[in-house]
Amino acid sequence: MSVGYDDTPMIPGQPWKVHDGQRPAPRIVTPGASCGAAPSDAVVLFDGTDLSQWEHLDGGEPKWKVENGYMEVLPQSGNLRTKEHFGDCQLHLEFACPSVIVGESQGRGNSGVFLLGRYEIQVLDGYDNLTYADGLTAAIYGQWPPLVNACRPPGEWQTYDLIWESPRWDGGNVLCKPAYVTLLHNGVVVHNRKELLSHTGHRDLYDYEYHPPTGPLMLQDHNNDTRFRNLWYRPLKDYDEA
Ligand code: MG
Repeated sequence: MSVGYDDTPMIPGQPWKVHDGQRPAPRIVTPGASCGAAPSDAVVLFDGTDLSQWEHLDGGEPKWKVENGYMEVLPQSGNLRTKEHFGDCQLHLEFACPSVIVGESQGRGNSGVFLLGRYEIQVLDGYDNLTYADGLTAAIYGQWPPLVNACRPPGEWQTYDLIWESPRWDGGNVLCKPAYVTLLHNGVVVHNRKELLSHTGHRDLYDYEYHPPTGPLMLQDHNNDTRFRNLWYRPLKDYDEA
């Protein structure tokens, strides 16, 4: 309720007074029953049962294995992407790298989470695994290493909780806002609203190229049988936006 005093100051940059009773109440969201469980307004991309919301990059049926509540990369079957396109969001997912260590460096449990199909957050078995820093688990691939290595041992389930802001261009095709990502790996902050330099790539850097602010979420087939489960997102909205 409003405090009701006419001399209550306006909040700078906002159309509201301090304690303004006219300001819309934030909508109610029921949190998930446990940490990582989808809250009431989440869009569930994979609930452990089927890949109905996913497709192969050629638009065909995804070939990855689904069992025991997870999906598992079928090596050399190709990347998967969501049929749905979305942009600014809060994203949760869980992954597990193979419990039996095969290979080294970038060959261990490698996969990737590509926002808008272009911007890779690395998935790797980075536990006691020497590799280049900007290719470690949770790295913004080829650009920024994670602030710390928060990996669990191979075979254990790990979490990414990510806040994504898509880049924006003005009408003249000039970049007016780069992409930003905040990421918690197993509950540990590893990127704090970090600016991306461009889309990501292997041994290369790029300039930003115009694209819509929405796109599919893509998961990488990097020839390792990495597993994913419990993928959901919430569109990121602004204050006072229902
Ligand atoms: Mg990768």
